[in-house]
Amino acid sequence: MNLPVMNLKSLGRNVLGFLAGSLIYFILVLLPFAGPLLSGIAAGRIAKKGPGAGFFLGAFSGIAGACLWAYLLFIVLDLRLDSFFSWLFLFIFVLWNAASIIFAGIGGVLGSIAAGTERLFSGPSPGAVYESGESVMTLVVCPDCGTANPEENIMCSSCGAKID
Ligand SMILES: [Zn+2]
Repeated sequence: MNLPVMNLKSLGRNVLGFLAGSLIYFILVLLPFAGPLLSGIAAGRIAKKGPGAGFFLGAFSGIAGACLWAYLLFIVLDLRLDSFFSWLFLFIFVLWNAASIIFAGIGGVLGSIAAGTERLFSGPSPGAVYESGESVMTLVVCPDCGTANPEENIMCSSCGAKID
């Protein structure tokens, strides 16, 4: 039984997407809209989940990237909120990141759609059922990652997603 390993693989893609998204967000958040959109696309493409999960992954990696900036500014650089301009800066910082996190979420949706579309062109379509060669084994394509599985599989042998 190697099911936990498969689920770890799926979890690993989420973690990797989250980390890549956070890092790209941290660097590119200075670029309005396009930067966080790119970080979300990266997160969604790496994780290869549905658009809904892609949105949250993109948004959460944006939140992590924003927290990293807050840590850098207010802890490492010890920025004090002791003047009108420092409060104004904080206000802009929060607004800027709130908008950017939404764009990172939208990027996550686009990235997961892109990952799904690439799968459509590179392999059999998700959910497709076909006969494999001379054997009569029927294969079912995983709707989540595109791997062909024996019909009797309940879970995908690659990513652990449930196959109907
Ligand atoms: Zn799968």
